[in-house]
Amino acid sequence: MKKRLRILGNIVIILAISIVSILNYRELRSKLIQSYENYLANVTSFFDRALSHNIEKSGSTDDFALIDEADRTKEKSQAELTKESNHEDNLVNQELLEQTIGITFETFNVLASDLRITVMDETGKVLADSNFPGDKLNNHRARPEVWGVISGEESHSNVRFSNTESVERLYFSARSSHNNMIVRAAVLMDILGNAGSTITLSSLVIGVVALLTFNLILSLLFKKQDKHQADLERVLAKIQSGDLSARMEEDRHTFADYHKFAENFNLTVTNFEQDYKEMQAGRAWLDAMVNSLMEPLVVVNQDLQIVFANKYAKTLFNRDIDPEENPYPFILLTHEDKLDDLCQKVFANGKTVRKEFQLQVTGRYNAFQVMISPVDVDHVVVLFNDVSYEYEARELRSSFVANVTHELKTPLTSIRGFVETLRNRNNTAPEQVNNFLEIIDVEAARLERLINDILRLSDIERLNTDSDLEDFDLVELLDECLVQLDEQASEKQINLIPSDDPTFLPVKANRDRIKQVLLNLLENAIKYHRKQGNIWIDLKRKGRFVTIKVKDDGYGFDEQSAKRVFERFYRVDKSRSRILGGTGLGLSIVKHIALLYDGEASVKSIPDKGSTFKVILKI
Ligand code: ADP
Repeated sequence: MKKRLRILGNIVIILAISIVSILNYRELRSKLIQSYENYLANVTSFFDRALSHNIEKSGSTDDFALIDEADRTKEKSQAELTKESNHEDNLVNQELLEQTIGITFETFNVLASDLRITVMDETGKVLADSNFPGDKLNNHRARPEVWGVISGEESHSNVRFSNTESVERLYFSARSSHNNMIVRAAVLMDILGNAGSTITLSSLVIGVVALLTFNLILSLLFKKQDKHQADLERVLAKIQSGDLSARMEEDRHTFADYHKFAENFNLTVTNFEQDYKEMQAGRAWLDAMVNSLMEPLVVVNQDLQIVFANKYAKTLFNRDIDPEENPYPFILLTHEDKLDDLCQKVFANGKTVRKEFQLQVTGRYNAFQVMISPVDVDHVVVLFNDVSYEYEARELRSSFVANVTHELKTPLTSIRGFVETLRNRNNTAPEQVNNFLEIIDVEAARLERLINDILRLSDIERLNTDSDLEDFDLVELLDECLVQLDEQASEKQINLIPSDDPTFLPVKANRDRIKQVLLNLLENAIKYHRKQGNIWIDLKRKGRFVTIKVKDDGYGFDEQSAKRVFERFYRVDKSRSRILGGTGLGLSIVKHIALLYDGEASVKSIPDKGSTFKVILKI
């Protein structure tokens, strides 16, 4: 563009100067020809009169009087002169005429050396020439200036190149007033050539100066423009690389337009920087908020790719990749294609949907209430609300109901069966009847225990803190339990061995509840024990917590069962538990009492070696 402008500018300047020079030259030439024509008209007229005078003089021998006479008769009309000349021409002979012309030539050569005068007869035959011998020159009738006069014009001028002299001349022919002669005067046109050279030279100088000035100004303009552009490019590159502090140079010495542009540009960048900072602050705040959410949250695009995941989502679903930089398929996070379908549904109808899913998180399955809402046409936000606890509670509740139903049904079926048998058999032996009644009694007792345990458990579960708290001695309560279980233990030759220390352990709690814990642990230790053995009981206080430890050398159980013995209705050995009248709720009651007192219940057991139950209570 710049190159084109420079070339175009130079061409225009050269053309303009050339045209002006040519016009000047033409003007000069036409003016010069005009003034030469006037001059030559005077010369031919003057020559004609001088010739007439000399012819007359050659008759009266009156030296150069013709010139003075010619001056004096300047005002006389051309018609009068012609009349007189014609009259005298008849008087001179040819030789005398040539001599007279020669004399007249000499006079004119003194006046102007570059002047050429030719005298011809009316047919164009050269009579005499100031520069050449007349007899050497051919007939001049074919010359335009001569032909013009021959053909009737008073005078005729013509600029042409003289083949005789090899120079350019302006020829001017006029009819002589003597003997029908034609007088032709010619001047050299070399002055025009010189003027042309001068014009060319001056045009050249003006042209060079104009071109130099033009190119210099253009270079200065381009330099400023280049500087401005380079500055703009520098700032744009910095902005592109994230440096919003970059500004253009506001140069007061440059063009007003550039200065104004730089000012406006800088103002725009400043406003943009401010907006960007505000936006970033807003974004940071939003990020902090979203990342502080203790619920996984992700944003999914139309291609079902995650483009944003909050901190908790990355941690919970164990995904380190930052989806903002490297989006990845939603299914890689959830492993559930139904969620992809649900996203597509939200994209299609733009309505929020909620659904519960079991999703794998860090090696286990959690239940999530998943809510998918549209953000814009291209994105949906997916919020995972972890409802595992509610889900487990629900599951627990339904399995508890199923278990309770089953547990109640077994003794009831048994009772009804024996009642039916007794009713249908009238001749049953009395011992048999007693036997049946005994079984019914046992099953009824089991039913009662079961119902009592269920009520007890639901009673504990309902409470946040226990009621009916009282101060009592835990050692004394333990002794009470040991007395109560003495007979049961003696039957199996099991020694109940409480530790000697402490002898007094004051606590504040619901006495019946703590007694329940002691009885359940001790009864189990006796029940799940072969004949002969030991049970050690240890009570200890550490700060606000009391630990009850019951150790036995009974059947024990494996690690897998150890994890589950505190579950409702879990039994290591179902038939043994049933024979022994267990409800499967004893340890569950112990655990819930421990939780009620901000503590915990745990067990360590080795099959055939024995178990150690530990209950910690804040009492
Ligand atoms: P149950 O009424 O059946 O005794 P529990 O909840 O008290 O129910 O105990 C659950 C299961 O744990 C029992 O069925 C039994 O198999 C096992 N168990 C509890 N205590 C002991 C123990 N001291 N030694 C061995 N097994 C035990």
